[in-house]
Amino acid sequence: MDLGLADRTVLVTGGSSGVGLATVRALLGEGANVATCGRDTARLAEAAARLDAGDRLLTAGCDVRDADAVHGFVQRAADRFGRIDGLVNNAGQSRMKRLEETTAEDWRDELELKFAGVLHPLRAARPHLRASDAASVVNVNAVLAKQPEPRLVTTSAARAGILNLSKSLAAELAADGVRVNSVCLGLIDTGQWTRRHAADGSGLTYPEWQARLAADRGIALGRLGRAEEAAYAIVTLLSPRASYITGTAIDVCGGVGRGIL
Ligand code: NDP
Repeated sequence: MDLGLADRTVLVTGGSSGVGLATVRALLGEGANVATCGRDTARLAEAAARLDAGDRLLTAGCDVRDADAVHGFVQRAADRFGRIDGLVNNAGQSRMKRLEETTAEDWRDELELKFAGVLHPLRAARPHLRASDAASVVNVNAVLAKQPEPRLVTTSAARAGILNLSKSLAAELAADGVRVNSVCLGLIDTGQWTRRHAADGSGLTYPEWQARLAADRGIALGRLGRAEEAAYAIVTLLSPRASYITGTAIDVCGGVGRGIL
């Protein structure tokens, strides 16, 4: 099926690795123009070189917590491509800490990253999205939003807040013709997990470590997800074919979610 994304423009924050990079690749494969950002410009340049997308890809060094920098990134994309039809709020990371290890600064930093990561790009992109005939925003979230984990206490709480915010945004932006949805990830095999394996010192190989993790966390499919499996769900929600889907969340989690909502 043609997803109708050719020649449309999509912004993806955090496109230099993992789920963001897989989403950029999938969008380019659909013929879309893509603008992506991250803090480490060398890593962005490496990713761009591997994608070999020519004029259809714009990369920019930008921290999503910095409203002015985000505004500049969005403006560059609009100037280059002349339109913005989609926004994927993906940039971020989780904070592996239990309540007793968590400082006031951890709480502030985590809430700032999660909320700024949605609100700054949306505020900058909103006038452009309003002008599109098929605008879609996808917030990359986590199953943690609905199923908190004590070892990720700040991230779980912030994720729940973002899921709630996504619902408000869907209601408010509907009048502008902008759809807003979430993709709730379980455990996806990206740099986040290779870094944790490297720091863990268990002596297990990465595949052994992953298998133990999947069993530990009760993942029904018995494995971590692949970044492109998350990207397919994101791209589907960006597509004009999903024109009647807004205010919802799709879990991409291999069955780790225990709830029925
Ligand atoms: P990666 O660590 O592989 O990639 C994160 C991307 O975000 C990188 O491009 C990174 O680039 C960028 N980024 C991080 N912080 C900022 C910032 N402040 N401003 C701009 N860019 C930033 O992560 P994943 O692909 O695993 O995760 C993608 C999203 O999915 C994240 O929000 C994550 O929390 C969420 N998620 C992931 C899960 C998983 O199991 N992988 C599970 C649940 C949710 P740079 O560092 O150069 O800025």
